[in-house]
Amino acid sequence: AAADEEYDLAVIGGGPGGYVGSIKAAQMGLKTVCIEKRGTLGGTCLNVGCIPSKALLNNSYLYHQAKKDFANRGIIVEGLSLDLKKMMDAKNTSVGQLTGGIEMLFKKNKVDYVKGAGKFLGPNEIEVELAEGGKKTVKAKKVMIATGSEVTPFPGVEIDEKQIISSTGALTLEAVPKKMIVIGAGVIGLELGSVWERLGAEVTVVEFSGAIGGLGIDKEVSTTFQRIMKKQGLKFKLNTKVTGVAKKADGTLGVSVEAAAGGKEDTLDADVVLVCIGRRPYTFGLGLENAGVEMADRGKLKVNDQFQTNVPHIYAIGDIIDGPMLAHKAEDEGVLAVEGMLGGHVHLDYNLVPSVVYTHPEVAWVGKTEEQLKEEGVEYLKGNFPFMANSRAKTNVDTDGFVKVLTDKKTDKMLGVHIINSQAGELIGEACLAMEYGASSEDIARVCHAHPTLSEALKGACQQTYSGKSINF
Ligand code: FAD
Ligand code: NAD
Repeated sequence: AAADEEYDLAVIGGGPGGYVGSIKAAQMGLKTVCIEKRGTLGGTCLNVGCIPSKALLNNSYLYHQAKKDFANRGIIVEGLSLDLKKMMDAKNTSVGQLTGGIEMLFKKNKVDYVKGAGKFLGPNEIEVELAEGGKKTVKAKKVMIATGSEVTPFPGVEIDEKQIISSTGALTLEAVPKKMIVIGAGVIGLELGSVWERLGAEVTVVEFSGAIGGLGIDKEVSTTFQRIMKKQGLKFKLNTKVTGVAKKADGTLGVSVEAAAGGKEDTLDADVVLVCIGRRPYTFGLGLENAGVEMADRGKLKVNDQFQTNVPHIYAIGDIIDGPMLAHKAEDEGVLAVEGMLGGHVHLDYNLVPSVVYTHPEVAWVGKTEEQLKEEGVEYLKGNFPFMANSRAKTNVDTDGFVKVLTDKKTDKMLGVHIINSQAGELIGEACLAMEYGASSEDIARVCHAHPTLSEALKGACQQTYSGKSINF
């Protein structure tokens, strides 16, 4: 292995954390290399996560509308059918354009890109097992680990990505299953469960806890969300645990379940089982021991407030460290870690990292839930504006959901915003901006919002918290 020139920064992993951090570093004048083993850039998010799932969510929703809703709107479609292969092709095109786009951005910003798996030989030396064969040693003054996460396996249930699948298999099924069992009613279960339900599968979601939507969702939101999902056709078995999955003689699957508290076993039939009970940090083969980097709990890397590991010139960001496993969180950390390396101020308010579930309607929130405020003993006010009372939602005949605003009772400061609406992911941006600037709900209520728009529902909820009443509800 020939030793190459020394870099200012080597980034291991080309996902949203690593690729964004690499570009930022190069833009700030660091000689930067990004090492990625997947063959394409963009990590989990662009290749097998955010992007392909949103492509399928969008197109499966259009299909669902054409089938179930167009007639109500006076649009008659005859001979409607599904070309699943073409829908998958469209998804692949979006993914290909975006991952290819990052390669162009690397060239434009002069980030070197090494295709292969990186492994620490020492604190400043990484050996790369090149995708094209052979090895190469990369030397760097600083290293940023951005190796992301992988699917948490379900003990005793082996994923083959055909019949027993993870999210990755759920993005590439070749036929619509008749019956699908989803293990876990978190973000992936609801998003990808929705996709296959819309395309014709009978989907049952089995969830260990008593609520859907995963960690951090407001309880009232979760309850409404579940009611809407149920109306759409998703079936839920909450407070239920899966104890095993067995292949039957006819080739289908039998999923054994029992009450979470224990009790009688039951068996659910399935053609396909989707396992989505969370993701875990990924450090396989990274040779952390050779660099002296210590791991914290459950495989995560521990970092200080500058994203430095216990070895100060080795940084870690994204899914591999604490905090929500989200692409935008990884991106912001990548930028901040690099700025910090060059003496910049490093600060990210994790309370203001938004969460979005891209079902229909979407569910989005930022800041505190009601449960958190109660637990913290904060006195709060609540405004709740239903989209039934919003003119744009009415014209769109798309009125499911509400905006819920939580404010400090004494100061009127915005503490949390929770939205269920087909555009919730876009609408939450206004709340994020307002809360970053420490806005009160009166501030938002007094901002001139265009009419008729969905964003007027946020204004309405804020009118309630600051003045006790909203005009339109
Ligand atoms: P990753 O994106 O996982 O990237 C890490 C990269 O490192 C990988 O490409 C891997 O190949 C590479 N790597 C690992 N080890 C090595 C090594 N030794 N050498 C070289 N390369 C290595 N988040 C959202 O915010 N919004 C969404 O809508 C969303 N949807 C999702 C849908 C699904 C189905 C899934 C699975 C996830 C979704 N996520 C979403 C989560 C999001 O994908 C992750 O939070 C994000 O990708 C984390 O970025 P990262 O850079 O930390 O790691
Ligand atoms: P998750 O943590 O969102 O949900 C997992 C769910 O599985 C939880 O509700 C949990 O109670 C349940 N569960 C755990 N063990 C179980 C068991 N034995 N039986 C039944 N249920 C069980 O995880 P996920 O849906 O797998 O998603 C993984 C990660 O990917 C998440 O951290 C999420 O942030 C990220 N992601 C984000 C988006 C988005 O932002 N829109 C989309 C997809 C994935």
